[in-house]
Amino acid sequence: MTVVELENVTKTYGTVKALDGVSLSIPEGQTVALLGPNGAGKTTAISLMLGLRRPTAGRVRLFDARPEALAVRSRVGVMLQSSGIAEHLRVGEAIELFRTYYPQPLAFERIVDAAGLGHLLRARIATLSGGELQRLYFAVAICGDPRAVFLDEPTVGLDVHARRALLETIRVIAAEGRTIVLTTHYLEEADALADRIVVVDRGRVVADDAPSAIKAGAGVKRVSFVCDPEREPALPAELVTDVRRAGARIDFLSAEPEMVLRELFARGFVPHDLLVTGATLEEAFVAMTGQERQYA
Ligand code: ATP
Repeated sequence: MTVVELENVTKTYGTVKALDGVSLSIPEGQTVALLGPNGAGKTTAISLMLGLRRPTAGRVRLFDARPEALAVRSRVGVMLQSSGIAEHLRVGEAIELFRTYYPQPLAFERIVDAAGLGHLLRARIATLSGGELQRLYFAVAICGDPRAVFLDEPTVGLDVHARRALLETIRVIAAEGRTIVLTTHYLEEADALADRIVVVDRGRVVADDAPSAIKAGAGVKRVSFVCDPEREPALPAELVTDVRRAGARIDFLSAEPEMVLRELFARGFVPHDLLVTGATLEEAFVAMTGQERQYA
């Protein structure tokens, strides 16, 4: 069963092309992370998958139906960056209310435990902190025992402990066979959670693979060596990116480290304490999108 199908989808807002000919097929049970810098088109992609926006061109299917169709709504849970939950309600009341919207909701206690809201059931929503609100949004997203869960930046505003707890919860609901589509800025989060990472940049899919393949496929290496800062060599600019200096050590990324080193040797430069290592996911991302990380 295919849960999400985007066929050559383009979405423009005025003159801005938020998505540009994106095709993507997500089978049941997969956890997919849409990863990309600010403005890449991740939220737009999720909105289209859910029928909250319509594509300018191309076709969108959700559970092999139109995403606006009522029949598919009850199979889907959604956590967006903003939510319209009435602020005067208490946390427990909100969860009860949302459960009534679905034919076969999850048990109240299960939702409360999963979201870590047990101690806040009587708190008014208006008084919740940003992190607590995120957890409530997550609770609401899973109320209907959805087959597919869409999470737009679920861990924004969470402290380290709350983030870890939410990631673990997402893993648990994914292990029950649900399809998860999430967006994130955090490469380590995508790596830790997802079976598949779709890297989006400027409205296009620039990579789509398993986390390990994304790392290997980017083919970049981090090269690092020590040199006298007074006699630092000029690096071949077309072959290196993300150059960093820490004391006497220089670090950079390159898809062709041998070429770079050959050039340096040819100029009579001898690097000391040379290290060439495989790229981390984050470094692969920099190499793929040409962008420095803009994240916390
Ligand atoms: P972020 O990580 O910052 O949330 P994103 O990858 O989710 O970014 P989108 O929100 O999908 O990116 O935005 C993609 C592009 O479309 C951006 O240039 C954005 O400014 C533009 N955009 C999004 N929504 C609208 C809108 N309603 N009207 C006009 N432009 C929009």
